[in-house]
Amino acid sequence: MKSKAYCFSNASDYDIEDISEEVTFAETAGKAKQDFSMENGIHYKDIRVQRVPWADKYGDVDSIPVEEWLNHGWYFTCDTCGAEIDDIKDFHVNSRGYCCKKCFNE
Ligand SMILES: [Zn+2]
Repeated sequence: MKSKAYCFSNASDYDIEDISEEVTFAETAGKAKQDFSMENGIHYKDIRVQRVPWADKYGDVDSIPVEEWLNHGWYFTCDTCGAEIDDIKDFHVNSRGYCCKKCFNE
């Protein structure tokens, strides 16, 4: 069975801000929940997931281009200053990781 993309959508009674935009690839919604449960220490039954159909064709999270994430409402955080990067024109990579345009130019 081919894996489909699922996004973590909700977990009751947990502070999920850090992981609310995580995506995983799994064959079923149940397996996606298991992934999130193991990764984040949240009880399986508390997790809700959403399908992310546009990401299906990439097959795994690392294969999704930055531009695709940005086009679908995700954003990246600059690892130097913490700024949100939501435009491909501002997206750079430096020795620390993701980098906004301002830090890249400095
Ligand atoms: Zn920055």
